Amino acid sequence: MASGERAFLRLVPSTTEELRPSQWFCGHCGAVTDETPAPAARICGDCGLGMLLEARADVVPQAGEAFLIVDASLSIQALSAEAEHLLAITEHDVIQHPVTELLTPADAEARGAEAFATTIMHAARGDDAPQRLFVRPANVFGVRMPLRVGLCGPPRAALLVLE
Ligand SMILES: [Zn+2]
Repeated sequence: MASGERAFLRLVPSTTEELRPSQWFCGHCGAVTDETPAPAARICGDCGLGMLLEARADVVPQAGEAFLIVDASLSIQALSAEAEHLLAITEHDVIQHPVTELLTPADAEARGAEAFATTIMHAARGDDAPQRLFVRPANVFGVRMPLRVGLCGPPRAALLVLE
């Protein structure tokens, strides 16, 4: 943990930011827009339900990918329509619940659980480099789902995309 914290604190504002294009996407239906929305128009024009969020283009969910938005305390802030379908739950039932109620690391050993939590916390606090790990739905055993984790916002949160 200590070494992980140090690595995180060493991150400085990147001067190569323009080399990593970002995109806005809807936190509910996942629709991507190439335009930067005006602050007053942060509700998705496609579904009219989700808030528009910004993330690095290599983290933004692709069509059909289920995703969750999780804050630095590991609480679920939003869930895509695809994720509701995939995990057979509704956003209303899991909002503000710990993400570990829905997803757990596919690797059972303790390090897996620690890495899962640490990866989400670092992303939610501003580490924008996408990370990859394997998870499974908390109530399903024997599956491994690739997950990529990155920064999104505002407000800052971790974007978890099930690939
Ligand atoms: Zn939408």
